[in-house]
Amino acid sequence: MPSADFFRWQRAGEPYTDCRPGATLTKTLRGHGYTVYTRGNDDHMEAVPPEDHTPFSQTGWPVESPEWFGHAVDIMPQGIPANCPTLAQLGDQMFNDKTANVPGARLIKYMNWEPKGPGGPCYHDAWQPTHKRSASTDRGHNHVSFRSDATHSDEMAGYDPVQRWRDSMTEPLSKTQTRDAVVRTDDAVDNEFPWRADYPAKFPEGDKRANPKVQLQTAVIEAAGRGEAARAAAVEGTTAILARLHEEVAVTLTDAQLDTLADKVTARLQALVFKATP
Ligand SMILES: [Zn+2]
Repeated sequence: MPSADFFRWQRAGEPYTDCRPGATLTKTLRGHGYTVYTRGNDDHMEAVPPEDHTPFSQTGWPVESPEWFGHAVDIMPQGIPANCPTLAQLGDQMFNDKTANVPGARLIKYMNWEPKGPGGPCYHDAWQPTHKRSASTDRGHNHVSFRSDATHSDEMAGYDPVQRWRDSMTEPLSKTQTRDAVVRTDDAVDNEFPWRADYPAKFPEGDKRANPKVQLQTAVIEAAGRGEAARAAAVEGTTAILARLHEEVAVTLTDAQLDTLADKVTARLQALVFKATP
């Protein structure tokens, strides 16, 4: 049996407007290419108690939800562009921004999200008012609910979590990220493209040019065997190729980190070249 508010809403002609922060964030995220939903379906509308996807939520906080405004968005996994953060990365950005009280993000009341992606844990992180984390079953998307005292706030207009995530990617890598990049490169050198003189010949000519592993090999050969300028060019090429090899890791290496990485790959390849030479 749906709530009394549901029937009251029906009699009123089912009015629905997104709260301003929800509408603004939806517009920003759709602009980046995300699929975002706000208004609940029949299940949401008829649920007891009605929650933030309805315009008659009984779970508004810190004040009663203003009538007939919805206070939630669902950011969906479908069709996220390659240059945008995954749901886990986006959730992480918004969680950290809420924690840091960043304007816009501080209007969040709670979010349900999977910080390790599908198959990992699913959390309900609420700030009402202090942070409390509990397990959630609301999987497969990022749910974000907004404070009911922010229904008409313009503040979200200045908040773009995707741009903030991109900006953070140009910062120097952490030690863990650098180590991970080196480990992945080592793995690639050892396992994915066994270093042999005949390796490129295994690929048809057209394939050779398009294959990032062959390109990486060529770039590193140059890095290993040529002068400083060639090495610098090879390092640049290596960056681009690494990015393609590891598309899931959207990071930008600093010059110093690239040098370290290039040195490491070069040393490994030289050792392998030496072994392979009859
Ligand atoms: Zn939701």
